[in-house]
Amino acid sequence: MTWPSSLSAPSLWLARSEPATEADVVVIGAGFVGLACAYWLRRAGREPLILEATAVAQRASGRNGGFLLTGTAEPFPVLSRRIGRAAALGLWHRSLENRELLRRELLDPGLVECDFVPEGSWIAALAQPLQVEELQDTVAVLRDEGFELEWRDQSAVCASGGSRRMGGAIYQAGDGGLDPVRLCSGLADLADVRVRFGVRVVDLETAGDRVRVRWEEGEVVAPIVIVAVNAYTQTLLPSVRGIHPVRGQILSAKRGERILEGIWFVDRGQGYVRQLADGTVVAGGQRKVAEETEVGFQELPTATVQGAIEDMLRELFPRLANRPVHRRWAGTMAFTSDGLPRMEPLPHLPGAWLLAGFNGHGISLGFGAARHTVRCALKRTVQPYLPASELAVEG
Ligand SMILES: Cc1cc2nc3c(=O)[nH]c(=O)nc-3n(C[C@H](O)[C@H](O)[C@H](O)COP(=O)(O)OP(=O)(O)OC[C@H]3O[C@@H](n4cnc5c(N)ncnc54)[C@H](O)[C@@H]3O)c2cc1C
Repeated sequence: MTWPSSLSAPSLWLARSEPATEADVVVIGAGFVGLACAYWLRRAGREPLILEATAVAQRASGRNGGFLLTGTAEPFPVLSRRIGRAAALGLWHRSLENRELLRRELLDPGLVECDFVPEGSWIAALAQPLQVEELQDTVAVLRDEGFELEWRDQSAVCASGGSRRMGGAIYQAGDGGLDPVRLCSGLADLADVRVRFGVRVVDLETAGDRVRVRWEEGEVVAPIVIVAVNAYTQTLLPSVRGIHPVRGQILSAKRGERILEGIWFVDRGQGYVRQLADGTVVAGGQRKVAEETEVGFQELPTATVQGAIEDMLRELFPRLANRPVHRRWAGTMAFTSDGLPRMEPLPHLPGAWLLAGFNGHGISLGFGAARHTVRCALKRTVQPYLPASELAVEG
């Protein structure tokens, strides 16, 4: 018997409105970022209530590659030209802070078991003089800023990755790969918070000095509300501009001999690859081959992008290519107009805060960003998370 394709209408009892309730703090969204907010709220002695439309980690947080990277795979000079040097440096510092915090608080003491493998990260250039030079410049600039970046030449990259088509790489020893779903479920267990699943918030409004949060069958009022719905921000807050849903795709190929250590980004971050402890290959990216159509909320893999991921494996990681693919999937990222995450109070709703727009780097930024947001929300002060981008931003 197959599962019915459409579910029937809810009964009177299931649909009955609940009396309005009150909460200390409400967090909307049980992805990694919402759960991280709940964790920091609990650490501050607060009692958050999470409202989640589906279940823990069903959207981007359960569909990503599990790469915990410091900084960005985009070379620093390119990033710097795009958003300005101060914002680019700020992003690297925040990302390092995030990694150290995540490792110190959860991963290294084993408080959250999520198969974290701290074998380091590789940001590799194609064997093209410009790409190699950009990454060497990245190392030079960021070492001066105190980052522990190592340069690996072509032969070292070839010995580890298996191809001379890569011309050199940045290696960062403290990074690694993890299982993002176990990270989220472990965080939810650790934070021990009240979560209401199947609650899709449809409206927020001011209620005296508090915020009223409404869904179809109920509502809750709280003095502090944190909206952590990432790519879905505009569906809930239409007045917030500049956060766009963008599709990312991944495949996994059957386990086999484990020959690739660490997490790998290639070709200015266009593609990424890792091998799990059991030898399973995880590879993704390549949205540049169909950038125009890789947008929106449809979590569906496409032949074009999946084909490009397989081509990347054949060209750059030949020892991992041609293993049978057993899963292909997609997820929705939140890209912002200036490439920086958004963390701000919502001006029309005193007490409500937005934390979203991680541009495909939510694991690499989200835990620290959540701590910062929680601190601001509890103190009711706005502290900039990053220097403003120098880019002129359109809505
Ligand atoms: C294919 C792919 C690969 C990626 N790889 C990496 C990676 O390797 N490393 C990395 O750092 N980042 C990666 N990312 C990005 C990372 O997954 C995200 O930045 C991060 O998961 C964002 O977490 P979040 O909690 O903000 O959002 P989400 O995980 O999207 O969670 C938002 C939650 O809000 C809920 N929600 C939405 N609207 C409502 C509503 N109205 N009411 C109630 N609940 C609502 C949703 O159901 C969802 O559970 C990748 C993303 C994708 C898609």
